[in-house]
Amino acid sequence: MNSLDDFPSDFNECVRFHGHLCPGLAIGYSAVKAATRLLNVGPSRDEEVVAVVENDSCAVDAIQVLLGCTFGKGNLIFRDWGKQVFTFMDRKTGRAVRVSLTGELPGRTKRHALKKKIEAGLASDSETKLWDELRYSIAKELIASDPELYFEVREVRSRIPPAAEVVETRPCAICGEGVMSTRLVTRQELLVCQDCANI
Ligand SMILES: [Zn+2]
Ligand SMILES: [Zn+2]
Repeated sequence: MNSLDDFPSDFNECVRFHGHLCPGLAIGYSAVKAATRLLNVGPSRDEEVVAVVENDSCAVDAIQVLLGCTFGKGNLIFRDWGKQVFTFMDRKTGRAVRVSLTGELPGRTKRHALKKKIEAGLASDSETKLWDELRYSIAKELIASDPELYFEVREVRSRIPPAAEVVETRPCAICGEGVMSTRLVTRQELLVCQDCANI
C-alpha cells in the first residue's frame, strides 16, 4: 500500500500543495535539497532566494513550497526552455547553484506507456495500480538517493535579477483599467493595455 508515511514531512507538504504524489514533484524536492546543501539557505520570506526554473512542470511546485519562491513575490522566474534545469540564487551572498537532471528517471518509458493506456481508457485495474506504484517507488527512490546520482550540481556565476520593482499605474486610454506603466503600449498615439492593443 502506498503511504505518505514513507516520505519526509516536508515532502508531504509539497504533496498537499501540489495535489498528488508524482516523480516530477520528487525531482523538484531533490533539486532543492541539492542546491540548499551548497547554498545553505532556507525558505524565503521575502525575496532572499530566487529560483529560475526552465520548465513549468510538477517539480516547480516543490520549489515554491520548500523555498518560498513564488510568482507573486517575483522570486520565481520561469524561462520556457523545456529543460529540467533549476538555478537557485542567494541574494545575500550572491552565490548561485545550477541543478540539472541528467538522463532519464528509471522506468520512465514504462510509466509513460501505461499513462497513455490509462488516458485512452484502455488500462486494466492492475495496470492502473502498477502505474501508481511505479510513480510512488521512483519518487521514493529519488528522495532517498544522493541528488548527485540524478543531477549535475554546480556553482555558477549568478546574474541575479533585480528585486520586484514598484511602478506607477496608469489608465488604458481605451478600457480605462489601470495598467502598470511599463506594460502599456502605444497604438495610434494612445497608451493602451495589451488586451485593447490586440483588438
Ligand atoms: Zn505532479
Ligand atoms: Zn485597455
